Amino acid sequence: MTKEEILDFVLHSDNLPTLSTVASRLVSITTDEETTINDIANLISKDISLSAKILKVVNSSFYSFPQRISTIQQASSILGTNAVRSLVLSFSFLKPAAKNKDGFDYTLFWEKSLFEAVASRMLMSAVEAEDSEEGFVAGLLQNLGVLILARSLPDQYKKVEQLINDEEMNRCNAEKVIIGTDHTYIGGGVVKSWGFPAVLVDPVLFHHEPHKLKTKDKKVKLITEIVALSGILSTIYSVKKPDKVIARFKLQAKRRLQLTDKKLDDFLDRVHTEVQETATLFDLTIINQKSVAEVLQIANAELSVLNLSYEQMNRSLVEKTVKLKMLTDELEKKNKFLEKLANVDGLTEAYNHRYFQDFLDREISRSERNYYTLSVIMVDLDNFKKFNDKYGHQAGDYVLRQFSDISRNMLREYDLFARYGGEEFVLVLPETNVEEAQKVAEKLRETVATTPFQHECETYYVTASFGVVEMSPATDKFSKNDLIGYADKALYEAKKKGRNRVVVYSGKKRWFTK
Ligand code: GH3
Ligand code: MG
Ligand code: MG
Repeated sequence: MTKEEILDFVLHSDNLPTLSTVASRLVSITTDEETTINDIANLISKDISLSAKILKVVNSSFYSFPQRISTIQQASSILGTNAVRSLVLSFSFLKPAAKNKDGFDYTLFWEKSLFEAVASRMLMSAVEAEDSEEGFVAGLLQNLGVLILARSLPDQYKKVEQLINDEEMNRCNAEKVIIGTDHTYIGGGVVKSWGFPAVLVDPVLFHHEPHKLKTKDKKVKLITEIVALSGILSTIYSVKKPDKVIARFKLQAKRRLQLTDKKLDDFLDRVHTEVQETATLFDLTIINQKSVAEVLQIANAELSVLNLSYEQMNRSLVEKTVKLKMLTDELEKKNKFLEKLANVDGLTEAYNHRYFQDFLDREISRSERNYYTLSVIMVDLDNFKKFNDKYGHQAGDYVLRQFSDISRNMLREYDLFARYGGEEFVLVLPETNVEEAQKVAEKLRETVATTPFQHECETYYVTASFGVVEMSPATDKFSKNDLIGYADKALYEAKKKGRNRVVVYSGKKRWFTK
């Protein structure tokens, strides 16, 4: 449907709000230049209840006339035609709220509209414009299109509300997306069809885009600007950041209406009270509206609650990070432990065979690069089979452990002590020549031989044999396996020569025995 077709559909809808006969007559006669105050007074006086309402408002504190006004005739001549028309129109719309239906909240709608009406009237007074009542009606009716669309196209309008709430889309855009036109066009079209003057039609049409209104009529321009401002301000009740709305409202009010900060603050202080008082005059009860200050306070409190929970979130994040760090540290420790487990022999806690091989590879490369000499000592416990046979395997295990401890304690930090297999061990001494290695082996041999191994009230003595070899990888042309083989040969030689001794392998010819 084109927007014209939608407007046409709406105008012929049963759900279109209707003006009272008095209001409708009044609108038509007030646009006629010939109409006199008497004509208006006569028309209104026919509706007794409406007359009473109008007299109540006219005699209220809003007007604070020095004398009591007791007839519509009097009211019309004091207030003027426009004000009286506005009052009649206001009464024709501001009635105790219709029941909420089709998911549309009429109470909320009219409360917001009343706020916009009062704000517009007050801004009219603040700029000392005449006919502030016209500002009131224009403010009141600016969103009439919303009500009309929601009533005549309820299903589609639910989708509009969904877009506004879920996608945070602006109302006019949401209406254009779902329906094909927005409430300014529909509302404007409807009030125009009712014969409303430009001063009431243009604010409805342009309240979202007042800059687009091209008119020479200063009053129409002013009311449109004011109505637009009231529309901005009323969003404080629905947005998450009302302070931003207030800031925007103040900025625009200063620019468009040249109002001072003081006047604006005074206006913001009073607007809620005036809304309440006006509601009373119209026999309405406001249930959903807080004062501007209250809205800001709540928003601030919510913000601090948000901040608090942000802090709490932060705290829990810190806690989580600390926990994670602890877990990582623990994991690292465990990994190191596992690594150690993988590299270490379970019984003796000496490095295992594989680790020894890798270590020797690395040490040979390093020595080759740096022209160092390294030494390897092979150690084998003497007659250990017999020992086991005699004292049992457990005593044997104990001796193996003790022997490992003694050996490790005697070595430098960068030396390697590993279990080669069974009761055979190997030592790698970096940057150590064969003479120095021989001394180490000798010292260890003597210590082992003289140490009483005490286990479960028994004292054992053991001896070990040693085969020592050196290598200067930069110049020696034998391999790692050759090196190990030479150490083994020297060890074999030590066994052959009677055990409990150190044999140094030095080339194929010479064997040094101690
Ligand atoms: P040799 O002086 O010639 O080295 O004689 P030996 O008996 O020590 O050598 P052999 O290789 O004949 O026997 C090694 C013994 O070491 C056999 C085995 O029971 C013992 N042995 C090897 N590993 C372990 C171990 O983990 N615990 C115990 N208790 N004994 C072990
Ligand atoms: Mg042995
Ligand atoms: Mg052996």
